[in-house]
Amino acid sequence: MTGPLPLGPFPDAAGYADAVQADLADPLARFRDHFAPTEPDLIYLDGNSLGRLPSATVDHLRRVVDHEWGRALIRSWGERWWDLAREVGDSIAPLIGAPAGSVVAADSTTVGLFKLAWGALQERPGRSEIVTDDMNFPTDVYVLGAAGRAAGGATVTIIESADGVEGPEEAILEAITPATALVSLSHVSFKSAYLYDMARITAAARAAGALVLWDLSHSVGVVPMDLGMADMAVGCTYKYLNGGPGAPAFVYVNPALEVDNPLHGWWGHESPFSFDLEYAAADSIARFQTGTMPILSLSAIEPAVALVAEAGVPAIRAKSVALTDYLIALADEVLGPLGFTVASPRSSARRGSHVSLRHDDAWRITQAMTDVGRVVPDFRDPDNIRLGLAPLYTSFLDVHTAVHRMATLMNDDLLNRYPEARGAVT
Ligand SMILES: *Cc1c(COP(=O)(O)O)cnc(C)c1O
Repeated sequence: MTGPLPLGPFPDAAGYADAVQADLADPLARFRDHFAPTEPDLIYLDGNSLGRLPSATVDHLRRVVDHEWGRALIRSWGERWWDLAREVGDSIAPLIGAPAGSVVAADSTTVGLFKLAWGALQERPGRSEIVTDDMNFPTDVYVLGAAGRAAGGATVTIIESADGVEGPEEAILEAITPATALVSLSHVSFKSAYLYDMARITAAARAAGALVLWDLSHSVGVVPMDLGMADMAVGCTYKYLNGGPGAPAFVYVNPALEVDNPLHGWWGHESPFSFDLEYAAADSIARFQTGTMPILSLSAIEPAVALVAEAGVPAIRAKSVALTDYLIALADEVLGPLGFTVASPRSSARRGSHVSLRHDDAWRITQAMTDVGRVVPDFRDPDNIRLGLAPLYTSFLDVHTAVHRMATLMNDDLLNRYPEARGAVT
């Protein structure tokens, strides 16, 4: 190919009229303007990995830095900061169907998962198995193993998916036995976007006397849910919640449980300012705090979650289903003949808000997309290109343009410019 790649829009290409029509009818369209601008020709399809920056966050952080830190200094702990992690937790609670007072923002997802898994294992002495699946995020599997060892030797049983696309739901249900202490799964799988039936698995685990710990990282903010009977959950705030890079995760513990936090710290004490040398856990979700909270990162979550709450998760889900359905239909038609296959569930009832495409040349295509294609996807070894559709700022026309840009860069002259070797961060 000579000259720059045509970046569209592509009004004569398949699916254009549908995209225009769907954008006109989109009740969430106005939310796109609530985000800080990116380069005009860039199509960002990675909101399932790092959500975009809400404009309100810029102003809020400026206030927090200038006034609360700059001027009020240590007085801000008493004025706002001390309770902030629980307030942020309370703002996330309705998005996940959890009651107020059951969620706190803290740590990373990985650390939160360790705390909860270890705590769960203390509640099920004499049971030696943790059940998960091979579609879970690797950090989850590592942490479940580490928590099992730290808690005295529980081992992880990894149930295998037949195709890496659909979760092995039936096999998981069969694997739950009287030896199972804990079932822990990603609600939406990070690779294929498979969406588990939370109520069904939770009910089966509970019937067998096991506890359930859900990782909501890829579902919070895009999939309505009712944690209801679920025992515990953890999730990210920097994906569809747009809380910013490294924003604290959140943990949920069913108020009926008194799970212990393995990391006893003064922030989890019932009376932190008594500075008592004897640890006594707070009688609330505050016990899952450990040490001083990252106030700037926590503050960045506030306007971001408010935006999601304003749009409402049911409306976000409706657009997410329409976007992923549209992308899959277009990918079948336009990209199928070019060697791509859809590696996400075809049933929207079983799918989160991203779509994975497989291609033998996925890594070089990813590089070409990001470079000349001006589309940011993400790549998961060995052959997955993930396209995250964040309903608050992704339009149907974005999807249409991105797919047709992908089609135009599928030629050897162009792809041969990019190396097969992977970079350190993919
Ligand atoms: C994104 C994600 C994580 C990331 O964990 P961190 O501790 O924030 O690095 C963990 N688990 C799942 C399922 C995820 O999607």
